[in-house]
Amino acid sequence: MRILILSDIHANFTALEAALAKAVGRWDAAVCLGDIVGYGPDPAEVSEKIRSLVQSCIRGNHDKAVTGIMDTEDFNPVAKAAVDWTRKQLSPELLQWLAALPQGPLETNGIVLVHGAFQDEDEYVFTPAQALEGLLDSTSPVTFFGHTHHQGGFAYFDSNLEVLQIRPRPNELFAPLRIEPERRYMLNPGSIGQPRDADPRASFAIADLANHTVEFWRVPYEIGKVQSRMRKAGLPEPLVQRLEFGR
Ligand code: ZN
Repeated sequence: MRILILSDIHANFTALEAALAKAVGRWDAAVCLGDIVGYGPDPAEVSEKIRSLVQSCIRGNHDKAVTGIMDTEDFNPVAKAAVDWTRKQLSPELLQWLAALPQGPLETNGIVLVHGAFQDEDEYVFTPAQALEGLLDSTSPVTFFGHTHHQGGFAYFDSNLEVLQIRPRPNELFAPLRIEPERRYMLNPGSIGQPRDADPRASFAIADLANHTVEFWRVPYEIGKVQSRMRKAGLPEPLVQRLEFGR
């Protein structure tokens, strides 16, 4: 079973379509780690697409904020403006679907899905220390997380914690990671719609655990098209500009 892992799509339909076009024929089931909406100009299109595409999907903090499950007092003014705009673009039906998304951790097809940290869906996992809890406590040796928008992850073996720097080069579409049976992993597919690891290409992962492989993908997309839709919608300029830098 090859699993397509999507995260932090953030209402960027152009990036999602570009990613799906490159992944065609390479996966059997799709899952999503949350933050379907927020920041980007296409919340309805992206929500519809994800709803019809994925087998399992957990919620992210932006999904909670847009549906009112979480208040936005911790959000910066720019993110909050995007949340308020997003809410107005979604039908009651899509808002209901977003509001009903389960909280991670969620086990599916032999992997575990979380949005942020293993024990706290809203916590960021940037450092080995922050990843340790998930590496030790997860019910599966391979756990996928999002939220940071940084592709990569961590491996644990024999009391050693390793930071995994797996990034496809500018001329490559993906870089494979070999999954060693005795190790435990916390892996981040990166963000489809708003990468923050200095590579503006849309990122995702494809896991094929029967063949001991996870592929980390980067797919270029037409960023300018998304930026002009964002400007037309009146979304905050810092959100528009960061897409081209991947920051
Ligand atoms: Zn996010």
